[in-house]
Amino acid sequence: MSKPLIIITGASSGIGAATARLLSAQGHPLLLLARRLEKLEELGLPDTLCRKVDVTDRDAVEAAVREAEERFGPVDAIVNNAGAMLLGRIADQGAEEWDRMIDLNIKGVLYGIRAVLPGMLARGIGTIINVSSIAGRKTFPNHTAYVGTKFAVHAMSENLREEVASRGVRVVTIAPGAVETELLSHTSDEQIKQDYEAWKKSAGGALDPQVVAEAIAYAYRQPQNVTVREIVLAATGQE
Ligand code: NDP
Repeated sequence: MSKPLIIITGASSGIGAATARLLSAQGHPLLLLARRLEKLEELGLPDTLCRKVDVTDRDAVEAAVREAEERFGPVDAIVNNAGAMLLGRIADQGAEEWDRMIDLNIKGVLYGIRAVLPGMLARGIGTIINVSSIAGRKTFPNHTAYVGTKFAVHAMSENLREEVASRGVRVVTIAPGAVETELLSHTSDEQIKQDYEAWKKSAGGALDPQVVAEAIAYAYRQPQNVTVREIVLAATGQE
């Protein structure tokens, strides 16, 4: 029997791309969303619909999900992974960077949930996997706006789980420590970037995105009556 459809947001690099490769290799048809369509298509995965979608555009997310369901059948899981980390001292950082993170890291997750949840509740089955961060559990220097968004992802995921658990829908929070991806590259403050790189080095390096992809796949593949509520994983040397 063919495997069910999984949606991955932010699949054009890092954790999302690694997760797409892994779940595709396990036989799932996929819907991959990001703004860089060419990077999604470069993955070259079979039974995969790639759509250039900014996940802060609620209608565009809905439309892509409906298109994928027409092609591959009902969505069984979504990995709400798209996110940005724009580090900065709060007195200096441009407010447009806060807006960008709030729109993407919080509203983008809500829009992904909204696009799949009614169908999952109607069918009484489904899995929502939200990629938060260790920065959704504890704070770090120069992370004020970012930790705000990731604490929000943790809180929303927990509350959603309480709301939908009795109706057969599983909600999983993935909370990685530092992972070697493009994430830091979007921070504009060069000194903060250098300090972060030095911190990663002192911790013996960051996780490979493949490790996070495997954690996501582990949570997903549990029997439907088991919910892995949260996975927290980080490089051993990270304090
Ligand atoms: P990357 O920067 O490599 O990946 C981010 C992904 O999000 C890209 O595919 C990017 O695609 C996509 N994205 C960004 N903005 C949008 C948008 N508006 N609409 C759609 N997609 C968008 O970083 P990671 O792989 O590290 O990040 C993935 C998740 O993991 C994030 O939520 C991050 O907060 C979280 N995380 C990462 C950690 C790390 O140390 N790397 C640690 C803990 C959590 P495109 O630019 O093509 O749109």
